[in-house]
Amino acid sequence: MKKIFVKNCIVELQGDEMAKVVWESLKEKLILPFLDLQIKKFDLGMKNRNATNDKITVQAAEAIIKNNVGIKCATITPDDKRVKEFNLKSKFPSPNGTIRNILNGTIFREPILCNNIPKIVKHWNKPIIIARHAFGDIYKSKDLRIKDKGKLFIEFKSNDGKKLIKEEIYEFKSDGVGMAMFNVDKSIYDFSEACFNFCLERKISLFFSTKNTILQNYDERFKEIFDELYNSKFKISFEKNNLTYQHRLIDDMVACMMKWSGGYLWACKNYDGDVMSDLLAQGFGSLGLMTSILQSPDGKVIETEAAHGTITSHFRQHQKGLKTSTNPIASIFSWTKGLWHRGRFDKNFELQKFCETLERVCISTIESGKMTKDLALLVGPEQNWLTTEEFLLCIQKKLKLMF
Ligand code: NAP
Ligand code: MG
Repeated sequence: MKKIFVKNCIVELQGDEMAKVVWESLKEKLILPFLDLQIKKFDLGMKNRNATNDKITVQAAEAIIKNNVGIKCATITPDDKRVKEFNLKSKFPSPNGTIRNILNGTIFREPILCNNIPKIVKHWNKPIIIARHAFGDIYKSKDLRIKDKGKLFIEFKSNDGKKLIKEEIYEFKSDGVGMAMFNVDKSIYDFSEACFNFCLERKISLFFSTKNTILQNYDERFKEIFDELYNSKFKISFEKNNLTYQHRLIDDMVACMMKWSGGYLWACKNYDGDVMSDLLAQGFGSLGLMTSILQSPDGKVIETEAAHGTITSHFRQHQKGLKTSTNPIASIFSWTKGLWHRGRFDKNFELQKFCETLERVCISTIESGKMTKDLALLVGPEQNWLTTEEFLLCIQKKLKLMF
């Protein structure tokens, strides 16, 4: 078997726990035997982030920007329990957040559909792709506990001191909480541009949701920017391709999403995207079938990953020496999607064809009745399931027949 030559390198971000175990196994069975590939590796495992004071995460993000393509395994985001477990120097931030901020990217989450896997929402027969604006809002907010009587204000002062905006938020007569948050026009423009471009490339329509009836300055600005960019740059191409763009209130959009059958991009503000992407993952079946792409505004830098975490519960079984049935599909798709973009940038059609073939083989393996436990449970009590290793070997056997 002749390996497919990949001229430019990709950046691999290694992770933690069960996700890492599955990662190494799928790489060895489905990627390395087929591709002549140069990989720049960054170990983002919890131990190494601690050893490097998290510098490794920043270095990895810089390498992704330089090399255009990053493929990432799930990593632990430490909480207090993890600080104890790993004896961490500090509660390091989420690597995904760090990388997202450096790439200034938009996250697109897309479910993988298989004919024989029932969905909780049965009529969702086309993917609902969700784009999350990964900057600002509550993730960069300041929140307070108030333990006194008094007034809470929000204030803006210009650098030259000439402009001052000061608004009273609330007069506390008893204990409570408060918060202030922000966003910036540039990031919203970048987000909207990424969304419009994504829709044109994939030939799907766009819905953007906010709560601009309540946040008449904050969310209204988001809507204005989307409208402005659509009218000035994308309207003609959208109409040519019979695509539409619409703004909807978030509550109305949630209702429509339940009613409609899919096949569109839903652009969400940061928090909405965080929450709704988990809702969609369950609605479509399994977290093991949800993929995630982080894309820079100009579309030239891509980081791909599975949407699920490090699957700690399975890792505890694995540590006891037990075999697990962990779904590797989303992790495999992080490789195929990342490498597909490598192929797009390099005009390496053989590589793109390999990626498309591997994705088809994954889906047809599941559709032939071979699957992991998470999917079998969705199908029903009659459905047999394989261990992770058995399932990966099935895919490998099928893939070998194609090359
Ligand atoms: P998780 O790893 O996504 O797992 C949650 C549950 O979903 C699992 O216990 C498992 O259910 C099921 N599941 C997820 N992926 C699966 C797969 N591929 N195959 C089969 N079942 C799967 O989320 P978590 O347990 O909340 O988080 C674990 C760690 O991951 C945390 O430290 C968190 O910080 C981190 N995390 C990282 C990322 C990332 O790097 N992008 C994202 C989310 C969470 P059963 O136990 O019922 O089988
Ligand atoms: Mg979430």
